[in-house]
Amino acid sequence: VSCLGRCDRAPVVWVERQPMLEHEHAWVYHVPDTTHFERLIHTLANGEARPQPDTDEQHLPDSNPDWHIDPYARDATLEPYTAVRRLITALDGRAEFPPPAGLQGRELDAYVQRVQPLLWELKDSTLAGMGGAGALAYTKRLDVWQQAGPDKYIVANGDESEPGTFKDREILLRFAHLIVEGVIASGLMVGATAGFIYIRHEYHEQIEAVRAAIARAESLGACGADVFGSGIPFPVEVMESPGGYILGEQTALLEAMEDRRGQPRNRPPDITSNGYRDCPTVLNNVETLAWIPTIALHGGASYADSGWKPTVTPTHTGPLPRFHGRRVVSVSGDVARPGVFEIPIGLPLGELLCAPQYCAGITGQLKAVATSGPSGGLLPATWALKPDFHTSFQKSLARKRERDPRADTTLAEWFVARHLPPGAASFDLLTAPLDLGFFNGMHELLSLPVAPLLGAGLVVYAGHTNVLEAALNFTQFFRNESCGKCVPCRLGSQKLVQIGTALLSREDEPVAAQQDITDLLLALNQTCICSLGTSAPTPLATALAYFPKDG
Ligand code: SF4
Repeated sequence: VSCLGRCDRAPVVWVERQPMLEHEHAWVYHVPDTTHFERLIHTLANGEARPQPDTDEQHLPDSNPDWHIDPYARDATLEPYTAVRRLITALDGRAEFPPPAGLQGRELDAYVQRVQPLLWELKDSTLAGMGGAGALAYTKRLDVWQQAGPDKYIVANGDESEPGTFKDREILLRFAHLIVEGVIASGLMVGATAGFIYIRHEYHEQIEAVRAAIARAESLGACGADVFGSGIPFPVEVMESPGGYILGEQTALLEAMEDRRGQPRNRPPDITSNGYRDCPTVLNNVETLAWIPTIALHGGASYADSGWKPTVTPTHTGPLPRFHGRRVVSVSGDVARPGVFEIPIGLPLGELLCAPQYCAGITGQLKAVATSGPSGGLLPATWALKPDFHTSFQKSLARKRERDPRADTTLAEWFVARHLPPGAASFDLLTAPLDLGFFNGMHELLSLPVAPLLGAGLVVYAGHTNVLEAALNFTQFFRNESCGKCVPCRLGSQKLVQIGTALLSREDEPVAAQQDITDLLLALNQTCICSLGTSAPTPLATALAYFPKDG
């Protein structure tokens, strides 16, 4: 099996009966050493009771009240599928009632508030897609709601395969009911005809958990032929991914669902108008959908207000930035407690890695962090500021305000005053707030040579790591997973592996390699259909820019 999604607890083994009985599935076990492995094999071979799989009791919601995602776990009196029940009441028998064509601005807002109050709550929540791009959940649904056509679909993407990313593993396993409810609620919001939950085929336990949640929802009347007696049909089903990293790319996923080779499509047209079977489709990461019930029950403003709260500092007298919402991240590598954690957005990286309720400390001196699996490359623990940093920062603020007088510079101003006051010589990565807006602006703020990314999978590297070796490993991953549709990606990713290999064996000079990588970065950016191609040069580019001595 190529990947079991257990970056936090390898080595693991996959066990299944041959032939597998109907309604049985494979199990994954953590085997830290050969003694554990032998004991497991004996137990299974002797037909003794099957041991529990490798679930993680330490930091998951059963034992951690800090998890907000499940409103039902926090309030046992709530009826299952309350969000769907409320939506059905609000719809009052209407299967679909899209805004009249041409409605815009305040009139459109008023219409949404009146006809689809839950959709309006999503707007208030500022819930953004958790799959990477961060598109607003509200905007996607409004787009699809406004599309004409008899068939529309909701697709939940549970095909995580990025190295270091395994948070959907736990969300699918523990919050399957929330994903199913998020899919049904989204379907009712946009007038969709069916929902699909697409899961990577290695996640047998998760597929079973989601199928069981769908069966329970059907038995309660929350989905199927007639949602809670409203006369509105909305079936939900699981689709098992045939396998492959690229199938997590939204359009490749749709191709696979339609029984074609899983390669990304050219865009436009966008998925919201031409998605599954060329029909309007809302496609979201499973986590985005899992947040919808709590937003429906507690209000969008409550989710928006649940972000990390920065504190007042004597070096900063201006307004404090607001971080919106919460998210789930996976952390692996050199930390005391790798795993899956729900965090307030904006939490400083250092707190995630060192606080006892999260990773409980770095096991060695921090050297690098891959903040978005391999796609964002490896960021250094510190980055030296240029001597004129403060002058250029003030100039860039002035330019920004000149371009757009309403530009919001609160976050950058607060961060510089708090963490990079006059006299500071370097930027400490541990102070970075885990917020997409901050990471998107980091490149310009700190004059970084390569634009960083923030994803759901963080990999931590302590002092002993050879970053060039780690970057080459990431590059080989991209080369192996390139679907081959674009020639520059197919050949460029192989060329990158050759460059990295030559650098590691010291057959190539870093200066020459850097030029080749820069050229490939530009070429792949201009010619590739999807982000695998545009990301492929990033690991090596960051290794050379930030860790020139490794190799
Ligand atoms: Fe396939 Fe690479 Fe092109 Fe993406 S960039 S479509 S992975 S060849």
